[in-house]
Amino acid sequence: MTNIRNVAVLGTGVLGSQIAFQTAYSGFNVTVYDIGEAALAQARGRFGALVETYSREVEGAPDGKAADAVSRILLTSDLAAAVVDADLVIEAVPEVQAIKQQTYQKLASLAPAKTIFATNSSTLLPSDLKDFTGRPDRFLALHFANNIWKFNTAEVMGTDETAAAVFDAVVAFAAAIGMVPIPMHREKAGYVLNSLLVPFLNAAAGLAAGGYAEPEDIDKVWRIATGAPMGPFQIYDIIGLTTPYNILSQGDESARALAAWLKENYIDKGKLGIAAGEGFYHY
Ligand code: NAD
Repeated sequence: MTNIRNVAVLGTGVLGSQIAFQTAYSGFNVTVYDIGEAALAQARGRFGALVETYSREVEGAPDGKAADAVSRILLTSDLAAAVVDADLVIEAVPEVQAIKQQTYQKLASLAPAKTIFATNSSTLLPSDLKDFTGRPDRFLALHFANNIWKFNTAEVMGTDETAAAVFDAVVAFAAAIGMVPIPMHREKAGYVLNSLLVPFLNAAAGLAAGGYAEPEDIDKVWRIATGAPMGPFQIYDIIGLTTPYNILSQGDESARALAAWLKENYIDKGKLGIAAGEGFYHY
């Protein structure tokens, strides 16, 4: 059970649109905020596409449930109106510290005292943002994975100032919108998923780039010997090679060598992953 009823989602990009849609699909009232009419028009398009996706991929959706979800989403470019009665604000604005900081500074005065703030940030810790919220006891991270209707983990991570009742309320909310909540006891950059995935993907690239084995064979070992459905290069293709490339480019010398290998052999040849029709595999 959760006491949260009214949810505001800030930012209607890749993840914000999915979070808003999944929340509305689960029966909650949702208000979404973005910076202007053009962004909101794009959001309407994203919601339309999600109706199609849910109707195709989610059980129970074809009976009109997905289309109904859209009717529970209110779109606005007025931040004050978006949060006026929000029990929970989920922030999914761009991964830029200054934008997040300004967003929380505005929210601090606009949102009622009852409102819990949750960031979906992938790389910032809630500690990096808590001082701008004006309510560090009611602030934490709620981190979703892309394609949340099927990859439905929700990592919940507070700071040492987050109130236990707030943490529990957000865990309950995550479950209420069909996620599998993953409560974290302490802050960790990368949460659970990326703390595992990033070194795993780097190790795989190191094997292939070092000429030890072919990507397909590295995938085969992982699948056959562990029973996992996918190997690391299949995962690269799903994520798209650009994000791992950007992360590796900012790393140490050996990370930058892997970035150069990805660029020369794949990215520069247009092999960017499934979305491009080719990555490590043809689609
Ligand atoms: P995105 O670029 O697709 O969307 C960002 C949205 O924020 C856009 O609609 C943009 O118009 C809007 N925006 C810009 N400035 C704003 C402002 N000042 N106030 C409100 N909205 C503003 O980004 P995304 O991929 O959806 O990422 C959003 C957040 O979700 C980031 O913190 C990211 O780390 C996190 N995240 C992303 C993924 C992913 O796979 N893309 C996965 C998990 C978490």
